[in-house]
Amino acid sequence: MQVSFYGHVRQYYNIKKEIDANIQRVLESGEYVQGPMLKQFEAELAAFHGTKFAIGVGNGTDAIWLALMALGIGTGDEVITHPNTFFATAEAIWITGATAVFVDCDPKTKCIDLAKIEAAITPKTKAIIPVHLYGQCADMPAIKKIADKHKLRIIEDNAQAIDAAGDTFKIGELSDAATTSFIIQKNLGTFGDSGALVTNNSDIDLRVRKLRNHGSNKRNVHSFGFNSRLDDIHAGILSAKLKHIHEWNDARIKWAARYTAALKGAKSFTLPYQKPGYRHVFHLYAIEVKDAAKRDPFVEFLVKNGVDAKTHYSIAIHKQEGYPWDKGARVVGSVANAEHNAATCISLPMFPELKAEEVDYIVAKCLEWDKTA
Ligand SMILES: *Cc1c(COP(=O)(O)O)cnc(C)c1O
Repeated sequence: MQVSFYGHVRQYYNIKKEIDANIQRVLESGEYVQGPMLKQFEAELAAFHGTKFAIGVGNGTDAIWLALMALGIGTGDEVITHPNTFFATAEAIWITGATAVFVDCDPKTKCIDLAKIEAAITPKTKAIIPVHLYGQCADMPAIKKIADKHKLRIIEDNAQAIDAAGDTFKIGELSDAATTSFIIQKNLGTFGDSGALVTNNSDIDLRVRKLRNHGSNKRNVHSFGFNSRLDDIHAGILSAKLKHIHEWNDARIKWAARYTAALKGAKSFTLPYQKPGYRHVFHLYAIEVKDAAKRDPFVEFLVKNGVDAKTHYSIAIHKQEGYPWDKGARVVGSVANAEHNAATCISLPMFPELKAEEVDYIVAKCLEWDKTA
């Protein structure tokens, strides 16, 4: 059996009529950039999050740095995040001219370790970027407490967790802005690049709206800005898909439970930790091998047997030689948990359109490996 890592085409065929109809509507409207479909999708996305504003932008990385820039964060400032995330989180900090400061992740959730944040705060610190890694929210109330005490801003990197929630909080509720990516690999993805941020802050909303559009919200009047817009065709595709995101995430949760029930006796790897009361939307179902030396052979075994397993992310950002370290980006304290995660993580196929027999096949292969490991 072959099981791919993603189910993009299956998903398209499941709601082809709705997607095609929205694309058709945009094509026939004659308005393709910042047109009515974008406006509609932004309203739907804000309503979905329960925030006052949603702003579509070019991609998830832009959403982060545009939010930072709208908050006035740039050269000379420091932004705290953790190194076991997709490279873009740190890249976005660098683009603004600010300095990335990395602290460790929690060994269980893999989200930022709350106990490590305060040691990294200096007079230059301006913001914290918690990442809702793998589809599970960071502990936002605790992060907000630290941020309030030190007068810091918070931007949630929500590229992986749309429709997730904490036990007592929603995404976008306890931060200055929550950013997301709509590249196809994400839980809500379109057939190309785009992203968005949601916020309750009218200043951020206005500033990002201008920044994304050459510094302009009035014809011929410009301030400093960029071109980072969400095209109306993508807005139409996303509008069709947004109606299904909750049920799709429910399907991910169902497959995660099936994996967990079947794999919980494994001796050579550990399963994802779910915080009680949190809605974990399983962007990834990421296990960790106990012996790091066995990680790559395990992935090779799965791939050889038709299971398209991957690693997220096998080189932590502080180990990336390609990161522009010249701006003083640094690690504070031990980041042993993040390094352990990079060395031991494996992501099993996870998408709503999986089939029970596919999950069961993957489970059988994992247990076959486990017997020999
Ligand atoms: C995907 C992702 C991004 C970047 O999104 P793009 O749309 O690819 O720019 C940022 N942060 C995290 C955690 C991501 O997973």
